Amino acid sequence: MTDLFLTERLKPILEQIKTIIHEDIIPLEKNGMEYFNQIAEIIHKNIRPKIKEKGLWGLHLPQSLGGLGLTLCEFGQLSEILATSPFGHYAFNAQAPDIGNFELLHQFGSTEQKQNFMLPLSKGEIRSCFAMTEPEFAGSNPVNLGTTAVAEGDFYVINGHKWYCSSADGANFAIVMAITNPENPPHQRASMIIVPLETEGFEFVRNISVMGEKGEGWMSHAELRFVNCKVPKKNLIGEEGSGFSLAQHRLGPGRIHHTMRWIGISERALEMMIKYALSRKISDTETLSDKQVIQHWIAESRANINSARLMVLDTARQIDQKGASAVRNEISAIKFFVPKIMHEILDKAIQTHGGLGVSDDTILSHWWRHERPSRIYDGADEVHKTALAKSILKSYK
Ligand SMILES: Cc1cc2nc3c(=O)[nH]c(=O)nc-3n(C[C@H](O)[C@H](O)[C@H](O)COP(=O)(O)OP(=O)(O)OC[C@H]3O[C@@H](n4cnc5c(N)ncnc54)[C@H](O)[C@@H]3O)c2cc1C
Repeated sequence: MTDLFLTERLKPILEQIKTIIHEDIIPLEKNGMEYFNQIAEIIHKNIRPKIKEKGLWGLHLPQSLGGLGLTLCEFGQLSEILATSPFGHYAFNAQAPDIGNFELLHQFGSTEQKQNFMLPLSKGEIRSCFAMTEPEFAGSNPVNLGTTAVAEGDFYVINGHKWYCSSADGANFAIVMAITNPENPPHQRASMIIVPLETEGFEFVRNISVMGEKGEGWMSHAELRFVNCKVPKKNLIGEEGSGFSLAQHRLGPGRIHHTMRWIGISERALEMMIKYALSRKISDTETLSDKQVIQHWIAESRANINSARLMVLDTARQIDQKGASAVRNEISAIKFFVPKIMHEILDKAIQTHGGLGVSDDTILSHWWRHERPSRIYDGADEVHKTALAKSILKSYK
């Protein structure tokens, strides 16, 4: 961990969080990831109250809402520690997609939207989801949307088909991206609208099975339909036609959250690799750690994590200072660079563990499956590489 971005107020919080993760959260992993919902109950009943008691609830919230009022760069450093267990962010109510929806509503929501949706979210009373991607259209070019929201008196009538709506199962509301202004230029056609999921016309089609995981509750990705789903116009976030600009606001900090999470995963995988290599005897006189190939994996992984962390925290610092749109290139770079190094490290950690590595007896196989989509969502690798390269080339013309 670099101390380049460490602030005085962050130091004690980091230590407290590390203790909770090690003493209370990591032990829950032994129950198995397929029992996530039961574990979530334990977290609600036993761990969240403890976190609140210690004054650590709302790591991402502003002070006005009882949070710590941290910068994105400070929160990123906490996020890395939370990510060393798959339950970390959930225990602290800082999990995607709720954290992104919270930030969106906090910045752009009306007073009523904040009261009805943002506050219960920040207290951990409800969950939410974000519904943008559609099976019929390439998500990589999000201006092509089939979902429409047609104004009818004081209401919008929404019709559309969405999928990969993470955590929709059991959520209280969705933020839905729908075309409200088809006459506008492509990037000003869509709007974000809050749809409470008890609204008539909302259909939960299924949880999509992903990499062998059926998915349930928060840890799931759903297919949804909206059929003449009528919501009040006051559920519009911001202005009509502002959906893409709001999505950019949501995605900038969101990519810091994701990439710091992947650094936390990489760090834990490296630690597991080191501990296992030291303990696994391969002869009377040697352990795996005596083999040069393993030593090189450890060294390369250390260098990769250190460089990725510096890149991400520097990007977070710049977002804090200049806003996300000023550092688009840096955001693109971390979005494809960090998943690459995480996958390399997970692969080496699994290989070091041999048969144990591919079993579900350690957390490595869960992450191997669960984090493969990191190269697809929030912009596929290829899209970010093209965007970055075009920007670099343009600066030379
Ligand atoms: C686990 C998971 C969770 C998700 N959660 C959510 C969510 O909560 N809400 C939500 O709305 N969406 C969510 N998504 C959807 C995600 O954002 C989309 O999958 C993503 O934007 C890619 O869109 P697509 O799947 O339609 O792929 P496509 O756009 O069809 O692209 C397919 C592939 O083509 C390649 N490609 C695309 N464009 C280019 C290009 N310009 N140049 C070169 N190659 C290209 C890439 O390799 C890409 O992977 C999630 C997806 C996953 C897998």
